[in-house]
Amino acid sequence: MNVQPADRIRKLPRYLFAEIDKKVRAALDKGVDVIKLGIGDPDQPTPGYIIEKMMEEVQKPRNHSYPPDEGLTEFKQAVADYYKTRHGVDLDPQKEVCVLLGSKEGIAHISACFVNPGDVNLVPDPGYPVYSIGTMFAGGEVYRMPLLAENNFLPDLAAIDLAVADKAKLMFLNYPNNPTGADAPLEFFTEAAAFAAKHNVIICHDQAYSEIAYDGYKPISLLEAPGGKDVCIEFGSLSKTFNMTGWRIGYAVGCAEVVEVLTRYKTNIDSGTFRAIQYAGVEAFTNGEMASFSEKMSNMYQERRDVVVAALREMGFTIRVPKATFYVWAPIPEGFASSTEFVSFILEETGVVITPGRGFGEHGEGYFRIALTVDAKRMQEAMDRISQALSSR
Ligand SMILES: *Cc1c(COP(=O)(O)O)cnc(C)c1O
Repeated sequence: MNVQPADRIRKLPRYLFAEIDKKVRAALDKGVDVIKLGIGDPDQPTPGYIIEKMMEEVQKPRNHSYPPDEGLTEFKQAVADYYKTRHGVDLDPQKEVCVLLGSKEGIAHISACFVNPGDVNLVPDPGYPVYSIGTMFAGGEVYRMPLLAENNFLPDLAAIDLAVADKAKLMFLNYPNNPTGADAPLEFFTEAAAFAAKHNVIICHDQAYSEIAYDGYKPISLLEAPGGKDVCIEFGSLSKTFNMTGWRIGYAVGCAEVVEVLTRYKTNIDSGTFRAIQYAGVEAFTNGEMASFSEKMSNMYQERRDVVVAALREMGFTIRVPKATFYVWAPIPEGFASSTEFVSFILEETGVVITPGRGFGEHGEGYFRIALTVDAKRMQEAMDRISQALSSR
């Protein structure tokens, strides 16, 4: 048999982390004490009350059948209630909430819902790779919006080519931002909503880090901006908020017409999220411990962030202190030709795994990302090793 993948598979970008993954495996084989600060996956377990709810629900035979296509009413209501209390935004749970198999799934599929071959999507660079891959799978073209330090890693909407803006179907945004750790003020969301209305572009706002924030900062929803709900679908996730990356549950909320199309698309592709997981999701949002759990997690990451920021500054790095997300984003030191070269050097010399900025797009070149996913003591150990490697270079 002559197996020939479709062009969309062949055109997938080269996996930039493959070479680093190979080096990590080699280091582990050699018995190196590897510290993994690469992948953004929480190191803490899902809270016990969510697990208990899951154990209870998984035993009920009525939960073993196909879930409702349009998602469980109780889960959608819980998301709507969370938006009301957390953001002051009213959502109709039946029309303005869609249940996802993790937010990545919805983000990957939204292009197929709206993009015809040759259409354009506006995509932040650096950014989560799924925005451009989803666009490409739908036959669309990616127009990159550079996220630059001098603009606080917000795209310069005025710099977007007017012909492109008028042609564009979707604009992806992500605040608090992965990988830069940047946050967006309400003024920016207001400006983005006006831009979207003017150019008839749907904003797809990825809010995976809505509850991981520091120094009293509370991330805002794009739906809080005037006109936001008319132009935006916002993607949320239980993954990072409740340490549930493996459970695969998320949601999309906002503009009813957009939510309806995504729901209709998904009805034809998957058959929904396991009912027991949706009930566990209800528990996640409605349990009285939600606020204190988020605070506990944020405090934990903040301690780690402070270790990293202090250590990197000591080493002479220019660091912006992230107010949210569990990432620190920093320029590579002089003397390295690329982010990949720097990351390989650090891995080989110290056994510490970090991510090259280039993996998030061409404007990520010259930067590296540290994920705050080990405890503060281990984080300090990683920083000590890096400091030593750089000073004896
Ligand atoms: C982790 C992450 C997601 C995906 O979350 P899931 O809900 O687990 O699919 C989406 N966007 C960004 C920016 C992320 O970092």
